[in-house]
Amino acid sequence: VAAQTLWIFLRSRNISRPHPGGGGAGRRRSGASGAHAELLVPAGTQVFADDGETLIADLVEIGDRAVLARGGEGGRGNHHYKSSTNRAPRRADPGGPGEMRNIIMRLRLIADIGLIGLPNAGKSTFLAAVSRARPKIANYPFTTLTPQLGVALLDNRDLVIADIPGLIEGAHEGIGLGDRFLGHVERCKALLHLVDGTAGDVVADYHTVRAELEKYRHGVAAKTAVVVLNKSDALNDDQIASRRDQLAAACGGDAMVMSGVSGNGVTEVLHALFALAAQPHVDGDPASLVL
Ligand code: GDP
Ligand code: MG
Repeated sequence: VAAQTLWIFLRSRNISRPHPGGGGAGRRRSGASGAHAELLVPAGTQVFADDGETLIADLVEIGDRAVLARGGEGGRGNHHYKSSTNRAPRRADPGGPGEMRNIIMRLRLIADIGLIGLPNAGKSTFLAAVSRARPKIANYPFTTLTPQLGVALLDNRDLVIADIPGLIEGAHEGIGLGDRFLGHVERCKALLHLVDGTAGDVVADYHTVRAELEKYRHGVAAKTAVVVLNKSDALNDDQIASRRDQLAAACGGDAMVMSGVSGNGVTEVLHALFALAAQPHVDGDPASLVL
């Protein structure tokens, strides 16, 4: 992700400290204004006031800039105090201090597709199959501790998919790792919801994840989702047919079938995702952005 620019004054060793305004002086000289300090941040960075809630700047596009605090004004030189009665004033003011502000920065991933599902649904396996990302794959929950991004290519187009790890019941309240990552779903255009076809109750698994999306709010549940019965390689035809029907009924639409391991159905799922990502942004939905 290319960096964008944030004008910022931070008390950090990583960036140069802004200079206070220079002092004014005699001989008609005003002080120099303080220089800006500039910090580069990735696209998707949000800047909040130190209450953690008031959004000060939302740097979505590459090239977005925000001024967070102003540098010190230069002090007035003696000529500012010149008047008809005082032709040679001796007064010159010191420069003002730069503004200080505590801020909290959060990085929101900007991906086309958010990959969701219970632990073990096969999200990492799918991402590894369709992109060069090599997420950890294991048959126990929470192997994926950070959201993984993968870029899937199809007919010379690319699609950024974010694997949102560890959605489990209660994720919106901070149980498991889910709520830390649900925020990343906010900016995806659409969702890919994987359900482990070998699980005992695919409908219950589907609803567990949907319930988390609903409780988290911020518009994530309203996003279009492609629902997929995964791990078809481990199922017989009857199981595939009945579980697909159950899922379709549960989601009130179509359910696709694939196996991230054998590759069956994966291209069809990718086509569906590319079609969704190509759709224009819906006005009035703050969570969907033109990417
Ligand atoms: P995640 O927790 O959703 O990221 O799931 P993983 O991709 O880590 O997979 C969890 C377990 O399911 C691993 O043991 C995988 O090998 C297995 N798995 C994933 N996809 C498939 C699939 O399409 N078929 C089968 N049979 N197993 C799969
Ligand atoms: Mg995983």
